[in-house]
Amino acid sequence: MAELIVSVSGVRGIIGETLTPEIALRFGQALGYLLRQNAPSSAVNVALGRDSRISGPMLAGAMAAGLLSTGVNVTDLGIATTPTIALMGRFLKAQAAVVITASHNPGQYNGIKFLRHDGIAMPAEAIAQLHQLFKTESFACQSVEKLGLLTTDSRSHAHHVQTVLAHIDAKPIAANRYKVVLDSINGAGCIASPMLLGKLGAELIHINASADGRFAHTPEPTKENLTGLCQEVKARRAHVGFAQDPDADRLAIVDEHGTYIGEEYTLALATLARLSVKPGTVVANLSTSRLVDDIAARHNCRVLRTPVGEANVAARMIAENAVIGGEGNGGVIDLRIGPVRDSLLGMALILDLLARTNKTISQLVAELPRYAMIKEKFTCTRAQADALVARAKTAFSDGKVDTQDGARIDWPQGWVHVRPSNTEPIARIIAESTDEATARELIARVDRLRSDN
Ligand code: MG
Repeated sequence: MAELIVSVSGVRGIIGETLTPEIALRFGQALGYLLRQNAPSSAVNVALGRDSRISGPMLAGAMAAGLLSTGVNVTDLGIATTPTIALMGRFLKAQAAVVITASHNPGQYNGIKFLRHDGIAMPAEAIAQLHQLFKTESFACQSVEKLGLLTTDSRSHAHHVQTVLAHIDAKPIAANRYKVVLDSINGAGCIASPMLLGKLGAELIHINASADGRFAHTPEPTKENLTGLCQEVKARRAHVGFAQDPDADRLAIVDEHGTYIGEEYTLALATLARLSVKPGTVVANLSTSRLVDDIAARHNCRVLRTPVGEANVAARMIAENAVIGGEGNGGVIDLRIGPVRDSLLGMALILDLLARTNKTISQLVAELPRYAMIKEKFTCTRAQADALVARAKTAFSDGKVDTQDGARIDWPQGWVHVRPSNTEPIARIIAESTDEATARELIARVDRLRSDN
């Protein structure tokens, strides 16, 4: 049977198999214990929310019980997007936030994501510490006068929408009355997204719009899963189609012809929107397309690269005072909103770009370089993955080598990134070039190193 996955992203498993209410309860106790240890004499508060999964109330209830039993107060936010919960944790001055979500995984999965007081994912050391406590500690229930208190807060969606709108010029967008088709996959994005798009004057056609966790298609917002959205955009003659994943931190875009433009274009177009207003530093992970470099170069701005993982991007953005950043899989971060990937922010920036340029999505895409990106993964041990990375560093010394996360090698004609996964016993190879044949050849060069044992 598969094991519960405990990684830098938190905990993830299959309901009834690897993930049960007992596990959520124990992680709640472990988190409460840790937070109480760090602040023995003052009140400790945790903001708790969930995506729309059917197993969400069960796990959130167990998590709340664990926290309350250790004397930690819990503010239950109910169903909300991951960025919404991160923002509310900060707004409520909570010591931590917890999101019950399995992000883009199918409905039988769920998970627990732990956020720090500022909304950034907890560092790997803190997760390891929690896991250790989870495995070894026996937790006592506090006496009744020391139990934590449970409250609810219904302001989260409005707070998130207002935070985004505070940094977007809504009037010129609203004047265009954009027709938008949004596929929220019956996920957490169903609630705040229409509020935001309403404020931006959009004529919204909202599909998969009930936050009931019954995912209408495979949830990852990739091309093969969004045929329904593409058809709807075309049939309704909409200006743009948006798709969210179940916890609404990722965003994918469909152009006005009903064509899925690829997730890499989400951060690219958001970067274009932001830099045209405020030139500055851009941060992206090492597996993100060169599109962001091309756009930054147009504005004489620099791009800094980080290891894969939202927290790595956010930390670098803060350190460098970056104006925009994110990950190529549709995750856009603007620190003025929060240090998390946010599909609401993404939608607002894309509509802002449409209004600012008076162009269509397909025109904006056509003005950018076109790249072919190829992704491959294979099963191996961590030691085998590390050995491959070491070989790549030596074999490709003719390129520019970045060793922050595995090895990424850049040549004028393209790049390849080889890295061990942090969550699974696999290695990933990603290559990008202006043509598919070259990208395939870059992957093949790494593959050849695998057989050079
Ligand atoms: Mg997600």
